[in-house]
Amino acid sequence: MPMFKYVCTDCQHKFEELVFGEESGVSCPNCQSERVQKQLSKVATSVSGSGLDTTCGQSSCSGRFT
Ligand SMILES: [Zn+2]
Repeated sequence: MPMFKYVCTDCQHKFEELVFGEESGVSCPNCQSERVQKQLSKVATSVSGSGLDTTCGQSSCSGRFT
């Protein structure tokens, strides 16, 4: 199943969301804003020094960004 990375344009919170078919109702878990931007999962190299890596695909990792 596809998992997409998102970044909230309001608080810059990064999170991942499993998307089943239609993507709708994706909102920031930090501030509940719906102004989120989908990141291309294959292009994660722009994130430097944040500890984000390809092995970090589980929700347990989201705590790092708070
Ligand atoms: Zn937010």
